[in-house]
Amino acid sequence: MHRINLGDFELTVVSDGTYPLDGGGFFGVVPKTLWERKVKADDQNLVRAGLNSVIGRTEKHTVLIETGIGNKLSEKMVKIFGQPARLLQELSAAGVAPEQVDIVINSHLHFDHCGWNTVHREGKLLPTFPNATYYAQEGEWRHAHEGQRDSFSYLAENYDPLVESGQMKLLRGGREIVPGLSVEVFPGHTRDMQAVIIRSGGKTACYISDLIPTTGHLDLNWVMAYDLYPIETIESRKRYYARAIPEKWLTIFTHDPEVPWAYVERDEKGKMVARKHSPQGF
Ligand SMILES: [Zn+2]
Repeated sequence: MHRINLGDFELTVVSDGTYPLDGGGFFGVVPKTLWERKVKADDQNLVRAGLNSVIGRTEKHTVLIETGIGNKLSEKMVKIFGQPARLLQELSAAGVAPEQVDIVINSHLHFDHCGWNTVHREGKLLPTFPNATYYAQEGEWRHAHEGQRDSFSYLAENYDPLVESGQMKLLRGGREIVPGLSVEVFPGHTRDMQAVIIRSGGKTACYISDLIPTTGHLDLNWVMAYDLYPIETIESRKRYYARAIPEKWLTIFTHDPEVPWAYVERDEKGKMVARKHSPQGF
């Protein structure tokens, strides 16, 4: 289990498992001959993607960033993606009971990022984390209801009941959620996708979500075909690297099945690389 202390926060990576994605969708316009050097595809051209969430614990709070695919997929979607549904076991292994979680943050509302927000129990749809306040961006929630190109990825039962009950707060742009933990919008994958930034003790970590889904997507131009605004993805990555590289942020990758977090650096040739070990001064 990946765990680190960052100032007042203890950060632990937990995972809902892995699922298959089309390699072409994952790497967009990048030729397969190039991306295949980083990630092997199977005979269906599928690559394995991770579903990394992060628990952030302080003396006062237990924060869960992202909730994976969950266990409510339709039969059709299970055929395509499987349904590993490991998150609650991993939370338990990390010593976290659902009742202890007081804050849940979804970077955006695609099905593979907010699936465990809710569960079916005794014929009812209930919040998996009954004592938590959930946070998402209002623009993202509105987009989820617009029926656009990515409408297949939005499952209302993951968020609408929480919005209706008031348990999910819809944010307008970036803000601090608890001391040291804030969200910031990075457009590209969707217009309102938010990253989660943890700053404490002079250190910073960032759950960058689908802006940079894996260590295979560090290059500015290696943009997923799923992104609604690919040019903005590139601009947002530039904005992110401009701070994250000089300030030695720990970047947390949602969909990397092997490397959930790393320090992004530029090598001698100017190429982005992921370093597993903390640089000096971190
Ligand atoms: Zn997404």
